[in-house]
Amino acid sequence: MSSFDTLGLSAELLRAVKDQGYETPTPIQSKAIPVVLSGRDLLAAAQTGTGKTAGFVLPILQMLTPELSSSTSPARHPIRVLVLTPTRELAMQVEESVRTYGKHLPVRSTTVFGGVNINPQIRILQGGVDILVATPGRLLDHQGQGTVNLRHVEFLVLDEADRMLDMGFIRDIKKILALLPTKRQSLLFSATFSDEIRGLASGFLKDPVSVDVAPRNSAIELVEQIVHPVDRERKRELLSDIIREGRLEQVLVFTRTKHGANRLSDQLEKDGITSAAIHGNKSQPQRIRALQDFKGGKVRVLVATDIAARGLDIDHLPHVVNYELPQVPEDYIHRIGRTGRAGVEGQALSLVCVDESRLLRDIEKLLKLDIPKVVIPGFAPDPAIRAEPIETGRRTGGGGGGGRSGGGRSGGAGRPASAGRHDGAHHNRPSTRGK
Ligand code: AMP
Repeated sequence: MSSFDTLGLSAELLRAVKDQGYETPTPIQSKAIPVVLSGRDLLAAAQTGTGKTAGFVLPILQMLTPELSSSTSPARHPIRVLVLTPTRELAMQVEESVRTYGKHLPVRSTTVFGGVNINPQIRILQGGVDILVATPGRLLDHQGQGTVNLRHVEFLVLDEADRMLDMGFIRDIKKILALLPTKRQSLLFSATFSDEIRGLASGFLKDPVSVDVAPRNSAIELVEQIVHPVDRERKRELLSDIIREGRLEQVLVFTRTKHGANRLSDQLEKDGITSAAIHGNKSQPQRIRALQDFKGGKVRVLVATDIAARGLDIDHLPHVVNYELPQVPEDYIHRIGRTGRAGVEGQALSLVCVDESRLLRDIEKLLKLDIPKVVIPGFAPDPAIRAEPIETGRRTGGGGGGGRSGGGRSGGAGRPASAGRHDGAHHNRPSTRGK
């Protein structure tokens, strides 16, 4: 069995890894870390839940170490690493990992993303940061205002590149690439590899090493999947019943639309079940609070749309409920990937009504699996009820386009109405660690 000790990481990094309680590297870490340390570009097929973040953060920190400075002078902290992410949540999580793994190093990091006041970000950037984690739109705002200098970037990471393209960031990414030095090391992580991703990769990776881990099946094997057939109008009643019976403790519930997420969350509260909704129309502080309340156990149910939930790092989540099946079968895999992680078994329940038969068939086809159907006594579907068209909402706004920002650019569909009034400074503080 491989161990972290053999990967060539420094004592400070091994200590940070040990502090986290990790014993063995995950497959993506075993494969990616030596590639990054060798100085090669990397094209990696890996999604959230595989440990990919440590797979790039650890070796990059290692490469930075010789020139890290404890000085407070901004000039000693040019941006040497740029990580681009599709969403604010992912940006925050990546930067949290930088702090976690870099806690014994004098490394300074921060995030910039839209939906919050730009000024605190400017102040932090002026103070000097070594590692910047950014969503594309807000980064370009900073570039436009001359408040970020990308001319010293040595490492570029595109995280969840497929989702960035889905969210329409391709032009922004290309603009950002043009601002970076050509001499740099570049890494691209993506869960899927479409021709578009390959095109993007060939445009900016130089002779990359390809690394592929197949977490999907193994991850999915750890998830017990069940379909509960139920009538459209009785889903909420069934969900409340299941929760109240104690079958679900802490549960992430997916809806298709922002409106649906709000409505369900309100209804659950009326049923006496603590709940919060997370989606793109929520302001950034609201989203942060909802996630913290959920992680801290203050809120039992977190209702989320697909894009808002993408990349959320919630450990050992025992249950995921598909209150509505996703329009895109791949999203089902992303959703149930929230559970059954890191060797812990999870359960994914899907409440499926007659309108969703086709969606269920598509999912089963993709998984090459017949998901067991279990009718809950008292909730057997009424055969007289006919299928109706599905309300989808607008997919582009379905969870907060993450990177579109305030500061003079046109707001994206998912941008909170209150953007700009909240400063989020708490989350943007650079982590300055003396030795
Ligand atoms: P990621 O795919 O980067 O979002 O990581 C998924 C989860 O796995 C995170 O909660 C990490 O803290 C955790 N993790 C990362 N590397 C390891 C490891 N080697 N052993 C155990 N857990 C890990």
